Amino acid sequence: MPVGTVASVKGVPQDVLEELGIEILLGNTYHLYLRPGVEQVRRLGGLHRFMSWPRAILTDSGGFQVFSLSDLRKLTEEGVTFRSHLDGSSHFFSPETAMEAQIGLGADIIMAFDECTEYPAEPERVRESMELTLRWAERSKRYFEEHKNEVPWNNNSNCQLHTGNSEIRNSKLETRHSSEMQALFGIVQGGSDFALRKESAERTVEIGFPGYAIGGLSVGEPRHVTREIVEATIEHLPADQPRYLMGVGTPEDIVEYANLGIDMMDCVLPTRAARHGLLFTSEGRISIKQAQYAGDQNPPDPNCRCKVCSRYSRAYLRHLYAANEILAQTLNTIHNLSFYLDTMRAVRHSISLGRGARFLSEVWSQAKP
Ligand SMILES: [Zn+2]
Repeated sequence: MPVGTVASVKGVPQDVLEELGIEILLGNTYHLYLRPGVEQVRRLGGLHRFMSWPRAILTDSGGFQVFSLSDLRKLTEEGVTFRSHLDGSSHFFSPETAMEAQIGLGADIIMAFDECTEYPAEPERVRESMELTLRWAERSKRYFEEHKNEVPWNNNSNCQLHTGNSEIRNSKLETRHSSEMQALFGIVQGGSDFALRKESAERTVEIGFPGYAIGGLSVGEPRHVTREIVEATIEHLPADQPRYLMGVGTPEDIVEYANLGIDMMDCVLPTRAARHGLLFTSEGRISIKQAQYAGDQNPPDPNCRCKVCSRYSRAYLRHLYAANEILAQTLNTIHNLSFYLDTMRAVRHSISLGRGARFLSEVWSQAKP
């Protein structure tokens, strides 16, 4: 899932995202809550209509951003008080307000409000944090069950929603039926303690959600620890429901974790790296800003058939980056997203052939320089 933090995958318009074959985007509740605000998005018909994106959207709970971006947070049983990174204003997120915000935004998949435990942390602290996340998961589910009808498309002031008569708005975005509901996923925490991860998984499954995420990873722990925790956690999550690993990862990571049974992943890496001139290719990573590419007429990735690689040279992309042209960010992002999507297509193909992603993982490691 590419990350579209503020209802935009930076630098790439929605029609191009569709063309690339992106089926689901992630939006960040924390950012959208601060700007443009949940009520504004709701009045405009919800995220799908607001950003003109007819395919699936997942919003996170806001918890991770509150813990990583905002200042002066104060954590209580009730929730967390934090200051906006935009203007310093004070806000409060709880399981109830995070659900209210995500119902108002109207994504297809929404996430329970959790506390992301920092790494490293003392054992007692990890247990307390995990217990808090479990109590918050119950409160999230309770609020959701009581308020799930309050989605933007169930609004009886439908007349406000007619914001235009373009074909896209009419044909793709008005097909949502009032009976359509969001899916609320639970989040497993437990730090780097295998026993706590198991307990968190089992007790979250007991509460009961249509899908489960493994949270609290990629927060500074060594990569082998991430892998061990995923392995230790995933066996306690139902294989017939979506299993989502949050905040991961590199192309190699997504092959590896798909191989372990992970169904969904999100990461800012392909898009953020692109904006900094880092391209993922079948021949490894290249930093397009380097002078060595100034006269290089090869495509960014000779094995990639994306619209960037089939049209432009490394020399041109290097020039755009050096000249600080906006187009550099757009083209780099389109290639990186294509590369990630191709990687996932290869994973799915490999699985459908019955070879599993293990096969691909081996191919991958051999292809690396
Ligand atoms: Zn490409």
